[in-house]
Order: sequence, then structure tokens, then C-alpha cells
Amino acid sequence: MYKWDVDDIRKKKAYILKRLKNVSNPLEEKKLCATLLSYHSILRNSSTIRYTWFPGILDKITKNISLQMEAKKYYPRIDNIFSSITPKLTDEYLTFLIKICRNLAEFPVEVRPLTPVSINDEVIIDVSRRFYESLEYDPFIKLSQKITNPDKKFINLESKSPHVSEQRKSIGLNIKDYLFNESYCMVRRENDLYDLVALNHEVMHGIDFQLRPRMVGEEHYGFHEIPTYAIDLVLLDYLDENGIYAEYTDEVRTNKKETTRNLAFKTFYRLQQRIEQTKNKRIFLGSDFDCTIADIREILDFSDIKDLLEIESYLIAEMIADRFKINKEMGMQTLKTLLLTPMPSDKTPSFEHIGIYPEEIIKVSETYYSSSKQSQIKI
Ligand SMILES: [Zn+2]
Repeated sequence: MYKWDVDDIRKKKAYILKRLKNVSNPLEEKKLCATLLSYHSILRNSSTIRYTWFPGILDKITKNISLQMEAKKYYPRIDNIFSSITPKLTDEYLTFLIKICRNLAEFPVEVRPLTPVSINDEVIIDVSRRFYESLEYDPFIKLSQKITNPDKKFINLESKSPHVSEQRKSIGLNIKDYLFNESYCMVRRENDLYDLVALNHEVMHGIDFQLRPRMVGEEHYGFHEIPTYAIDLVLLDYLDENGIYAEYTDEVRTNKKETTRNLAFKTFYRLQQRIEQTKNKRIFLGSDFDCTIADIREILDFSDIKDLLEIESYLIAEMIADRFKINKEMGMQTLKTLLLTPMPSDKTPSFEHIGIYPEEIIKVSETYYSSSKQSQIKI
């Protein structure tokens, strides 16, 4: 029942290819190309198990080279869309990102598998809808109902794949239609509570996009996971409060925390290794930088920046979720402001408009191991 309408996507794809033949406006061309790439991704991910696990990270890596290469067969000019997406960070900001990454990167942890729990598709959709209703914000209610409406075919739920062995949790995917301002979600289920969290997460990506549609590269890259990570945590609290699968929520929380710690570990030591090899220095000696920011810039690539920003995003998401714990209205106010305020790509990222300052993010990263249960917020 929750499957994309592949025939409809094929028709839309043909329509775009036709329009691309006569396009003269560069902005329109960009929009058509980006949407073509999205349709291509939908078709690749629909119902064939061998593809469903592979590009699961696409909503995080917009600059996916392999997909671009394939899409170029259809339309050679497609790579214009992705130029200039890499964010330019000031020395100060980069120093800040590396510090928070180091604070989380103490040692790798084993991400424990989740307890199997079978939740049927209708229940997943129903719980997610009721969750968005509970937030009492009209656009959330309307958009979540629209995205999850079975007749609209925006959702694709794939069952557990026997061919993917070392998967620990379900994988979600959100694909944007820049032409019709729609959002397509997919979750490859693993039969644990993460199936529900992942679907709800992808719906939030959809709400975020449709609240304020924008093109690839129009805003600062790297913060699109803040509202979704925050909503993951708020959903888990909602499940606890309402006694819905409450016995499984803590392991999902732990899983998310451990995944972030491992990402930090992997990112920091990858940078450390390259600095040692090329400069014969360490990033930190004690608590001071041993190398310069210029040294780091030399070895830094797009995926390092992506990971560093994702780590920051997770910490900010935790801070937002903490506000919901104190007071739902306050949490919603923060989330709404975040969603409705553009983040220009040419400016240094700042979250001061939601009352979150770099010093506090550093503080949260310092206490990440010990507690991070108590809220670290400033209003
Ligand atoms: Zn996401």
C-alpha cells in the first residue's frame, strides 16, 4: 500500500526531459535538472532490493558523485547544479567544529543492535501522524497528513532485506521534487523501533522543504539534519509519555548517541592521520592546536566538512529537544524559528536567533559522555 507510483514518476521524468530541450532560463534549467536527478533516484530506489541499501545516505550527501555520473547519461549538463555547494567556513568556525568533534571523539563504541519489534505499516504512519498532531502547529499537521496520505504515493516502505547482512538500523531516504515542491520518502525497514523513527524523520525532511521550498545550494549546506534529529528525540519522548513502544525508546536514544560518537571518532582520526602524514604534526597537543588551521584546510575535503557539520547539527538538535522537555511551546517556538529562517550560504552559520551560542555547543560537547541529560540552554 505504501509504495511510490513508479509509472507516474516515469511520466514526470519524460515531461522534464521534454522541457529541458527548450529551456533557456538558467534557474529553470537548474530546477529541472535537480528534479530529474530526484526522479532518477526514486526509480532506482523503488522496490528493487539490490538498490535500496546503497544510496541510503543521499539525503545527507547531496553531492553524490556516482548518482550524478549515472544521471549524466540522461542529461549531460546535470553537474552544474552541484557546483558551489561546498560551504566556506572561517578559521574561527573551523576551529570550533574541530574542537567539538575532538570532544566527542574519545574512543569508538560498539553500536548495539536494537531489539526486534514488528510494527505494521499502518501503525507506523498512524503514530507519526498523531505525533505531528500533538505538536499543535497547523502546517505540521497538514503537511504530515499530505505526505503520508496513501493515495498521494509519497511514501515507499520497503521490507527488511535478507541480502543486507551487517545493517544495524533501518535506512531512510528523502527525495525532493523541486518542480512540484513535493517530497518523497522511503524507509527500508529492519523490524525494530527505528522503522518508525526513520519514517517520522523523513516526513520531517518533507515538512521542512515544503514549508519553505528552496533549491540545492541556495542555503548553507550541512544543517538540514538539525530539525530532523531534534524531531527524532522529541518523538521518542512522545512515545514514552504515551506508552507507545516505550520499552524500546532508550535503546534508540543510546544508538543515536553512539552513532554520533563514532562519527566524531572516525572524522577526527581521519583528519589526525592525514595531518601526521603530510605535516608530521598532530591536530592537538594537549589542549592546544599543534598544527595551523591552514594545515587543516590543506587536507580537508567535502566529506570532512559534511561530517563536522553533522556532528554540530546533532548537538544542536539535542539542545532543541531539551527545550521540548522543559516546555513544548518553547520547543516548538525554537523549531519554528529554525525552520522559517533562511541560512544564507555566504554567511558564517549562526544559531543565535534561536538562542544557541557556540560556547554552549562546546559545553554540551564537553559533557557528552558524562550526562547531557540536563539542559544547557539560554533563552
Ligand atoms: Zn535525514
